[in-house]
Amino acid sequence: MAGVAFLNGQYVPLEDAKVGIMTHALHYGTGAFEGIRGNWNEADGKMYMFKLREHYERMLRGCKMLWMDPGYTIDELIQITIEVVERSGFQQDIYIRPMAFKSEEKVANLNLRSLADGFMCLAVPFGNYIDSDGAISCQVASYRRIDDTMIPPRFKLSGLYLNSILAKTDAIAMGFDEAILLNMDGHVCEGTGENIFFVDGDTIATPSLESNVLPGITRDTVIALAREELGMKIEERSVDRSELYTAEEVFLTGTAAHIQGVGSVDYRNVGDGGIGPVTRKLQDLYFPIVRGQNPKYMHQLTVAEPKGAAS
Ligand code: PMP
Repeated sequence: MAGVAFLNGQYVPLEDAKVGIMTHALHYGTGAFEGIRGNWNEADGKMYMFKLREHYERMLRGCKMLWMDPGYTIDELIQITIEVVERSGFQQDIYIRPMAFKSEEKVANLNLRSLADGFMCLAVPFGNYIDSDGAISCQVASYRRIDDTMIPPRFKLSGLYLNSILAKTDAIAMGFDEAILLNMDGHVCEGTGENIFFVDGDTIATPSLESNVLPGITRDTVIALAREELGMKIEERSVDRSELYTAEEVFLTGTAAHIQGVGSVDYRNVGDGGIGPVTRKLQDLYFPIVRGQNPKYMHQLTVAEPKGAAS
């Protein structure tokens, strides 16, 4: 595949960007990563990356948790990302994956502080995350969201994602589009890669940060848009499972998933089973913002100018 990756301080063709089989992160999931979208704007021929600084701030918090130092400042990480996107050349929507990881080729060593760190960044073409433009079907997972006292879910730590992967795999095997995890208290936590919101009248509720959710960048954005643009009330609180079945609207948010309407949970329709009016309004506000089509929010975007992928 065409594309350029940044690995060990160098830009290399994606197909040549390899790590050895003894790499610590491969064995133990010792990485802190980000999921960033590059949104292609056909009209002006530019790639827009939304809240890039916030993504790298979160990655660096995850690095701190894992005693890692990727060796670059946030400004340098932003520059590396622009360079990867421009050198990769894709003129379509892309997914950007930076990751700081324990790169030392050493097995049977569980002491983070004795292991060397690496950093990589790559970009690949990317369309819809969940293969549906309509409202999706969800299942409450039998797996519980991992607790802060186990592996802190407030960072994007590679190994943590086994929790999401087990839940998502079961949901898909059983014919659902996505899983919703409860936390150890039995309260609603989040989707496998998305935060969750509930609409009732003029109020939108979402699990509070101490519910063990990932502090989502899209979550923050949607909270601000709902308050400032729609004049709605926001409640960040503990949310009961039963609210999944009775809310007027439920939607999921994430960089990959954008704003995704939920049509049913455990076979019960949410509202009339379609995308609700508040979800639709938020989608209509959000998409132009992340694609560089709303001048008011331009300051939250980083721009790259890919010139076309080498074939
Ligand atoms: N929760 C989890 C578990 C995730 O992996 C993601 C995706 N990063 C989100 C929520 C949404 O976060 P964001 O809006 O920052 O992409």
